Amino acid sequence: MRYERSSALFREACRVLPGGVNSPVRAFKAVGGTPVFVKEAAGAGFTDEDGHNYIDYIASWGPLLFGHAFPPVLEAVVAQARKGTSFGMPTALETQLAELAVSMVPNIDKIRFVNSGTEACMSAIRLARGYTGREKIIKFAGCYHGHADAFLIQAGSGAVTFGSPNSPGVTQGTAKDTLLANYNDLDGVRRLVEANPGQIAAIILEPVAGNMGCVPPVEGFIEGLRKLCTAEGILLIFDEVMTGFRLARGGAQEVLGIAADMVAFGKVIGGGLPVGAFAASAEIMAHLAPEGPVYQAGTLSGNPLAMSAGLAMLRQIESDPEVFDRLSEKTAYLHQGLEEALKQSGLPYQVNRFGSMISVHFTATPVRDFATSALGNNPYFKQYFHGMLEGGVYLPPSAFESYFLNDALSYADLDQTVAVAASVFRKMRA
Ligand SMILES: *Cc1c(COP(=O)(O)O)cnc(C)c1O
Repeated sequence: MRYERSSALFREACRVLPGGVNSPVRAFKAVGGTPVFVKEAAGAGFTDEDGHNYIDYIASWGPLLFGHAFPPVLEAVVAQARKGTSFGMPTALETQLAELAVSMVPNIDKIRFVNSGTEACMSAIRLARGYTGREKIIKFAGCYHGHADAFLIQAGSGAVTFGSPNSPGVTQGTAKDTLLANYNDLDGVRRLVEANPGQIAAIILEPVAGNMGCVPPVEGFIEGLRKLCTAEGILLIFDEVMTGFRLARGGAQEVLGIAADMVAFGKVIGGGLPVGAFAASAEIMAHLAPEGPVYQAGTLSGNPLAMSAGLAMLRQIESDPEVFDRLSEKTAYLHQGLEEALKQSGLPYQVNRFGSMISVHFTATPVRDFATSALGNNPYFKQYFHGMLEGGVYLPPSAFESYFLNDALSYADLDQTVAVAASVFRKMRA
């Protein structure tokens, strides 16, 4: 059997891990079948426990901008590990990474490191509430901001894939403070703000959405949110956990030319180790403990291994700023190849792309929000996913996820991906 060892490992895992995994989307529930267990990875590819090789389009869900086991990051982590792995006391590394991040990203003076994107977003809204003295937040259907209670109201990807957009365990009390709008629908947001005068602390969004597939903002949407927030004293929070240090050195703020009041980071900023961060002006950050009254803490926050990995990653970006253009060009090349193959197949499709994020949706309807993205969560997607997997191409196992290209991908890898896709498309049936 093709996945013999992965299947055995999965059965074993299911005895001691709920659903056999530590994060739901890894379990393949949305696409069926058994998850492949990774043995090792390097560059753009990985090898599973049964010895098959794959071209990887998730790159650990985004962090690995330069591919797996990237030598500068590896060397930094190993060198630091020899000096101690955790202290619970300040280190110079934290300041170095903070200085570098603040110099790369527009509109932020200070940054707080945490251990995940979830923590970053959760803490950002606490600070926004503490700063404004208001309780409600607005989020968008299909945007994912981690699994803190306040965000599990129509969250994207994992939460949607598993049919629990409003998870049990999230109280009514929490849910009532999270107001829901549709992505790319500025009028809907205006109506919510009008109906809740003086009560909205923050509007949080993925400035380029990646957790309902890749859904870029339409012209005027984010500009409109910025104006509305400024007029109403609402903080505009960009969740750049996915887009930060991926779309540009300054993230989506730089690419879109719009200033956020607060920014959340994760993924690339940790270089593949667990790091999240949130950042804002010195004035807003002054409200955070120990400088101010809004509490936030972490035993492993600013962990030296994680800081070393993040530093090596951001330094690499600074020494090779063309990486973003290279990634965009590779993604455009993949887009073109996939689109030609899709056209020939006669299947209904949309390909959405922004920078190094791309997604294929099997629907004839343009995908610009959660409802239209959900149209592509259909049997075509499952056939596509499994066909690609068999052909040695690892895609996100959910119709609500973006692919993340990494710089280790070669044009030969991209050509091979398109060739596999073309043969898979030919076999797909409604
Ligand atoms: C991945 C992600 C998160 C959550 O980060 P974790 O590190 O998984 O907690 C939050 N927001 C966005 C936009 C993400 O893509």
